[in-house]
Amino acid sequence: MGGKITILKLGGSAITVKKKAFTPNLNVINRLALEIKKADVHPLIIVHGGGSMAHPIAKKFKIKEGYKRRGQLMGFAETHYAMVKLNELILDALIEQGLPAVNVQPSACVVTENGRIRSMEIKPLLELLKLGCIPVLHGDAVFDAVLGFTILSGDQLVANLAVNLDAERIVLGVDVDGIYTADPKLDPKAKLIKTMSIEKLKDIQNKIGNSLADDVTGGMLGKVVELLPAIEQKIPTIIVNATKPNRVCKAIRGEKVAGTVIQ
Ligand code: ADP
Repeated sequence: MGGKITILKLGGSAITVKKKAFTPNLNVINRLALEIKKADVHPLIIVHGGGSMAHPIAKKFKIKEGYKRRGQLMGFAETHYAMVKLNELILDALIEQGLPAVNVQPSACVVTENGRIRSMEIKPLLELLKLGCIPVLHGDAVFDAVLGFTILSGDQLVANLAVNLDAERIVLGVDVDGIYTADPKLDPKAKLIKTMSIEKLKDIQNKIGNSLADDVTGGMLGKVVELLPAIEQKIPTIIVNATKPNRVCKAIRGEKVAGTVIQ
C-alpha cells in the first residue's frame, strides 16, 4: 500500500444544499474531485455524509431509532437509496478526473449494535487500497443487531477506520471554516477556534453527555465528540471549509490551511 492512510470526510453540509431537500451541490462535488486529483495523496479513503439527500427521509421514518413497524421499511430502503445516488454523483466526479474511486457500501459490510459499529468486513477495502484504488464510503442505513436497523454516521465510520487503520490524518470538510465558539450561522459573534485541545473536547463531551441530538446541539459538536477515539490515538485531525476552494486540497496534503486543528 505504501505509507499511512489519509481519511477525507466530505460533509453533507458541503456536498448538498442543506436547506433544500434532495439537492446535491454539484458545483462543490465537481470542484472537490478536481482538488482531490490535484492533491495526489495516497493512500486515500473518502467517506461522505448525506446532508439534504438523505436526512429528510431518515428523519421522517425515524430510521435511527430502529425498526418498530413495517411502514418504516420503505424509509429504510429509500434512505439507503438516497445515499447510493449521492455516492454515484461523487463517483461520477472522481472517475471523470481519472481517479480509481470505488464504492464500499457500509450497509453491506458493517453491523452495528445500538448504533455503534460492532463488526466490519474490512478486507475488500484493504485490498482496494493495496491496488491503488480510492474506497468511497458513506453514512448509511445499516442493519443493527439490537435495533433492527439504524443510521450509521459518516463521522463514526471515519473515527473507526482511522483508529483501526492507524491513519496518517483525518480531514473533515464542512460548510463553515471550522469549530466556532457558537454556531456561526446563528451567532454572528461566534469566533473560529483555530486549535482545540483534547481536554477541551472532553469537557464538551461531558457537558453534552448522552443527550446529544444532532438537530438540538448542532452537527459540529456531535462530530468532534465522535472523533475522540481517533484524536486520543494522536491522529492529526483538521476541520476545514470544503465549500471554499483549495482548503481540502491543502488539508489532505498536510499543508497549513485555515480551519480548526484538533490536537
Ligand atoms: P456535515 O453534515 O457536513 O458533516 P453538520 O451539518 O452535521 O456537518 O455540521 C456542520 C454544521 O454545524 C455547520 O453548518 C454549523 O452550522 C453547525 N454548527 C453548530 N455548532 C457549531 C460550532 N460551534 N462551530 C461550527 N459549526 C457549528
